[in-house]
Amino acid sequence: MGVVRETATRERRVALDPASVKQLISAGRAVLIETDAGTAASYPDDLYVAAGASIVTRDDVVAQSAVMAVVRPPDTALAASLREGQVLIGLLDPLNHLATVQELGDRHVTLVAFEMLPRTLSRAQSMDALSSQSSTAGYRAAIVAAEAFGRYLSMMITASGTATPAKVMVIGTGVAGLQAIATCQRLGAIVTGYDVRAASRGEVESLGAKFLSPSVNQGSGEGGYARAMSATEQQAQQDELATMLESCDVIITTAKVPGHAPPVLVSASTLGKLRPGSVCVDLGASDKGGNVAGSVDGQRVVTPGGVIIIGGGELAGDLPTSSSQMYGRNVAAVIASLFPADTLVIDPTDEVHQNIVITSDGAITNAAVDHALAQLDDQLATAVAS
Ligand code: NAD
Repeated sequence: MGVVRETATRERRVALDPASVKQLISAGRAVLIETDAGTAASYPDDLYVAAGASIVTRDDVVAQSAVMAVVRPPDTALAASLREGQVLIGLLDPLNHLATVQELGDRHVTLVAFEMLPRTLSRAQSMDALSSQSSTAGYRAAIVAAEAFGRYLSMMITASGTATPAKVMVIGTGVAGLQAIATCQRLGAIVTGYDVRAASRGEVESLGAKFLSPSVNQGSGEGGYARAMSATEQQAQQDELATMLESCDVIITTAKVPGHAPPVLVSASTLGKLRPGSVCVDLGASDKGGNVAGSVDGQRVVTPGGVIIIGGGELAGDLPTSSSQMYGRNVAAVIASLFPADTLVIDPTDEVHQNIVITSDGAITNAAVDHALAQLDDQLATAVAS
């Protein structure tokens, strides 16, 4: 097995931590780690050596590994260096990297993408990297918000006066949202959750937070995810949220819809009504937009009215040690499933294998990826014809 250093800007995670390396080595695997692959996550090379790995150059990792684990989709150079028969496991974001998937599939590289895992299967939970990374991102969102906010989050009674607790709204109460709620509660804030999936009410309330029901009905879509809202529904949500958010000090947004741009839920006019010093942390921020008008992924923007907007689409990477620890376990669980012994065994009757393996033996083996590629081909054909 091989792990290279992640090359994406601001990325500090590593695909295997030393504890996962130790687990893989005791299961009979050999592990190669690129020099300094884990240093940014506070896992220096000597910890990997102590766990039984060999530290080698990037070229040697790629040349000698049968299986490689990455956090992010491979950069152009890594993709170009992968060869027939090699297996690449990671958060490969296949639906947004269709050309790379097709090219690597054609070259008989086996791609294993965590995004395609059937997450509701209980035996898949140890492999659920989307959840592990959403969980660290949600926790981190609360910490980042508390750091940026100029007041106490908790109630504070002192000889010098009393501070009232901050009001926090978490919009989108999936894995990240629930973790943000729990962390803000621990910090003493008064927390409310909001989500279009009615099923999340119980989860929010079990954490001791209040749940606000949106006026849009039946927001659940396929696979337990939210469905995309129509333009009218999105406007209705923005309008009702404007009233709900007026008195909030901190807003954490996590709303995502698979295969669609994140919905804008906090509009520019709502931002104009918030008090100066209010903080919005937007976990939905990406190059496709975000949940908060004007948010920029990875940046802190202050509106003319003094509202601080933090684009936090990559916040899991800001907790690199814990995120890598969890991710490493997810990788090790996938390896255990796909490699019962020394060789890759893809069981076509296994629902996990059917979904998570997206290319094998030169073919696209995941139905959703295959469908997306077919649509892309149709669009290209139409463009050429016109
Ligand atoms: P996600 O990251 O896709 O989205 C985050 C949240 O945003 C979701 O709760 C979604 O409903 C919400 N959202 C989307 N559009 C919205 C809008 N317009 N307004 C308000 N909220 C909006 O979600 P996730 O955290 O990956 O979780 C998705 C689902 O998968 C949930 O049902 C979760 O319980 C489920 N899940 C189950 C398991 C398991 O069974 N083991 C594991 C992980 C996730």
